[in-house]
Amino acid sequence: MAGRVVRRAFKYRFYPTAVQAEQLARTFGCTRYVYNRALAERSRAWLQEQRRVTYADTSKMLTGWKRDPETAWLAEPSKGPLQESLRQLQGAFDRFWRGQSRYPKFKKKGQSKESATYFSNCFTRGGQIRLAKQSEPLDIRWSRPLPEGAVPSQVTVSRNARGQYHISILVEDVIPELEPADRVVGLDAGITSLYTLSTGEKIANPRHERTDRERLAKAQRALAKKQKGSRNRAKARLKVAKIHGRIADRRRDYLHTLSTRLVRENQVIAIEDLSVRNMVKNRSLSRAISDAGWSEFRSMLEYKADWYGRRLVVIDRFHPSSKTCSACGEVASAMPLNVREWTCRCGAVHDRDVNAARNILAVGLTVAACGDGVRPPRT
Ligand SMILES: [Zn+2]
Repeated sequence: MAGRVVRRAFKYRFYPTAVQAEQLARTFGCTRYVYNRALAERSRAWLQEQRRVTYADTSKMLTGWKRDPETAWLAEPSKGPLQESLRQLQGAFDRFWRGQSRYPKFKKKGQSKESATYFSNCFTRGGQIRLAKQSEPLDIRWSRPLPEGAVPSQVTVSRNARGQYHISILVEDVIPELEPADRVVGLDAGITSLYTLSTGEKIANPRHERTDRERLAKAQRALAKKQKGSRNRAKARLKVAKIHGRIADRRRDYLHTLSTRLVRENQVIAIEDLSVRNMVKNRSLSRAISDAGWSEFRSMLEYKADWYGRRLVVIDRFHPSSKTCSACGEVASAMPLNVREWTCRCGAVHDRDVNAARNILAVGLTVAACGDGVRPPRT
């Protein structure tokens, strides 16, 4: 079958033996140490000498640290994960220099996710995966099969705050081609519902999320009451982490299903560029936005649209999509957040979110027709 070859990650739970768990803990500690020390060196060089340290520089430093008797333990784990840690730091700086993120932060034990990445020369596979410097293969729960004949190019093992281990396996996969779709859709990130489509369909929050949130709030209150440093506090913190993780897992599954459906059904999908950083200042919206996992959803739409030959149009967030009548184009003077339904002077009765989604679609189609770089006029 025809299709496109893409790199795709498959994630599974695994259960390490006591020996593997101990060795992984040491490897995670080493990757964190290398990341933090290289970050400190980069910051120092810049602050004191206005000198930029490159990835190659930090790689040389790492060789030195391994020879230093004080940090000779860095020579113990496989070298792949340590190099990858330096590469991740390089990526963090690249994003910082491009103005896409803040200055890189130190990784803290127990607070940052623990992980280590191995390239194909650092693990073996033959139906099983065995990491470098480990004698036994990992006990992986293969919840879904890897694509047939897929050759993993890298694996990342991680341990989350809940104490669960995962392995993410990167392989090349063939994405089957889809027939062109004749539908188009606009999407409004909502407040009362998760998303509203220009077709009038409202996408509710995932099932269980409300009950999970109530449980989370309760667990957080319990945690706040526990004495610092006590065993009970540690237990309470684990409980909070578990609920948090469950909410995130369920939401991700939900968004995956939704994004796949939208991309399959529609040739063009128009969304708004919600600049989360600016909108979080508005507290009434902040929860709705973080809940909706907008940026995660947007990136799912982006790569799936790319896989399947669909067009995702991201429109200017200053376009007054809520205030413009999608029937006649008239712009209402004000539209407070509590107004859910309104009637335009032309007589059209609008559901606030459906109207916004229709406007987003209209602008998106203009952009799609005019090509990139052309913006519709602002009214
Ligand atoms: Zn109107």
